[in-house]
Amino acid sequence: MAGQVFLLLLFALAAAVAGVVAAVGWRRRRTAPAVGTLSLVSAAIAAWSAAEGLILLTGDPGTALLLAVVKYVGVGAAMAGFLYLSKAVADRGWRLPRRALPLLSIEPALVTAAIVTNPRHHLFFLSMDWAVSPEMRIPEFGPLFWAHTGYSYLLFGIGAVRLVRAWARGPRAQRPLYGLLLLSVAPSTLGNVVGLLALVRTADLTPVGFCVTAVVVYWLLVHRALPELVPVARDRVFDMIGDAVVTIDASSRILDLNSVAEDVLHRLRPGTPDRVIGLSLRELLGEVFTPADDGESDLVFTDGTGRRLDLNVRTTPLYDRRGERAGWAMVARDVTALNRQRHELERANSRLRRQQDELEQANARLRDQLHTIELLRADLAEQAARDALTGLHNRRHLMDVLHREAATADGDGGNGRDGGNGGRLSLALLDIDHFKQVNDRYGHRVGDDVLVRFAQLLSGGVRRDDTVARYGGEEFVVVFPGTDEAQARSRVEALLEQVAADPVHSGGHTLRVTFSAGVAALSPGQSPDDLLQAADGALYAAKRGGRNRVETAGPGPEPAGTATGTAA
Ligand code: GH3
Ligand code: MG
Ligand code: MG
Repeated sequence: MAGQVFLLLLFALAAAVAGVVAAVGWRRRRTAPAVGTLSLVSAAIAAWSAAEGLILLTGDPGTALLLAVVKYVGVGAAMAGFLYLSKAVADRGWRLPRRALPLLSIEPALVTAAIVTNPRHHLFFLSMDWAVSPEMRIPEFGPLFWAHTGYSYLLFGIGAVRLVRAWARGPRAQRPLYGLLLLSVAPSTLGNVVGLLALVRTADLTPVGFCVTAVVVYWLLVHRALPELVPVARDRVFDMIGDAVVTIDASSRILDLNSVAEDVLHRLRPGTPDRVIGLSLRELLGEVFTPADDGESDLVFTDGTGRRLDLNVRTTPLYDRRGERAGWAMVARDVTALNRQRHELERANSRLRRQQDELEQANARLRDQLHTIELLRADLAEQAARDALTGLHNRRHLMDVLHREAATADGDGGNGRDGGNGGRLSLALLDIDHFKQVNDRYGHRVGDDVLVRFAQLLSGGVRRDDTVARYGGEEFVVVFPGTDEAQARSRVEALLEQVAADPVHSGGHTLRVTFSAGVAALSPGQSPDDLLQAADGALYAAKRGGRNRVETAGPGPEPAGTATGTAA
């Protein structure tokens, strides 16, 4: 009997505790959505618990039927509540969808109908035999009861699986919450299973167990996990950001700031109080810190120790629900080092540009000097190739020209062995007649003038391709490329006439000079020296022949190979 009284007191206590959790939870439902859901679950548990106790006390079958309705609707509501509680705990942002309530009320309505009409069909309870005194009796259950129980376990099972998954995959920090929740429902579930399997024939103590669950969950939700974790994490993130973050209201009063922003403020204004929230940022920093409507600005400050602080400030306006300006959020980045590096880079760049300019100028000067040197060199080379007195090519240059021409000529100087013009080469050696007498009679100066005038006449009387050179003393050479001996002879004869027709005036005297010439054409196998020698021979003949005339060397000696070849 004492045990039965204890049982009734237990149900009454559970109902009262669950009721208190429901009431307190409802008042604090805004803490987190899960708390509101817990409040509804607790209300269902309170009703379930109270009905469970009262049903054992009443002797009236009608009252027992009504209490049974309250009990089983409470069971269904508690399980549905648990399902949504698990969802709300695992997903912080979740809200109960509106269409869920009508859906969830279908089963309780069916259960109510089934229990109320049970005396006619006995499908929910086979026998309505409920009593705690004088001995403990509970009813036999019919198929509709088992359907209801199955439905309740389905809701409960889905919630439990969701918690297990959240425990396995959710954030580590929330694990104890999910684990404790699962643990707190385990004993009552186990007790319920034992009761259902009729292993122990006693009153159903499940609501008492769930009452304990409700208290544990309330403590978990309100005092442990949800209210703290997210804001704490947000504060940590806020402080972990390397930039200074400040929120100010429309009148520039500081609403919130991170530790970097606090450090920056204290560095810029050393006298600033420790607690800066509520102070006016504009008063602290001066007009320079007028927030732009939206965008980015670069500000330069001088801190308390006189050091420069460059801040890049990004500003975003904040608006309240009515769309009115509520303030600004600002993120300021210390770009002092960056700016310093940029300035140094710019300075180094301009230094480099200056050096580049100087180098280019030096380069241009060098190019000019090189050009001058080139001109001088060419001049020198020209001078080295010229005769100082007459300006004609000298003997050295003559030999260069002769070697070049002899190399391209085919060596048949028009001696009848070659009908063509190209490749032939002839040469004339000219010697002024009795020149010694000019010197002797009129002096060296006049002699020089005669030489200069003679040189002019020769230069003016030959073709562009011909080369006139002073061979030495009063001897001159004219090279006739592409010219055979006969043609060369007739050109030299023309020069003879020109010189004879052109007297030289010098030192008050008028002089007529003549020259003798020997002409030779290059024969095969001949060297330039051979050619000169041949011309010299012809010149000698001209001198001997009376001077003022031209002699040709005639066909050169047949090359040895050819003579042998003919003989053979
Ligand atoms: P030929 O008709 O046989 O050639 O008699 P030539 O007097 O012309 O020959 P010779 O070789 O005996 O004399 C050449 C002279 O030319 C001797 C020399 O004083 C003179 N002579 C050589 N070079 C120069 C010069 O540069 N200037 C002057 N004024 N005379 C020069
Ligand atoms: Mg001579
Ligand atoms: Mg002479």
